[in-house]
Amino acid sequence: MAKYCVNTNAQDNGDHEVHKYTCEWLPIEENRKYLGVFDNCHDAVQEAKKTYPTTADGCKHCSPECHTR
Ligand SMILES: [Zn+2]
Repeated sequence: MAKYCVNTNAQDNGDHEVHKYTCEWLPIEENRKYLGVFDNCHDAVQEAKKTYPTTADGCKHCSPECHTR
């Protein structure tokens, strides 16, 4: 299990990346929206999609199996 958040600040390509709190690329605190504790990044991305239906995507560093673009 891990705690996840989504970056409220979009990347250059428009994506809102989903991170574990242990990620070295974790956004600064004011740009984090807490998602919850999940078994895997797929569930975390699903939760993030409630806020960002088309642009939530896994971070390629901490959640590479959920990184699609
Ligand atoms: Zn990350």
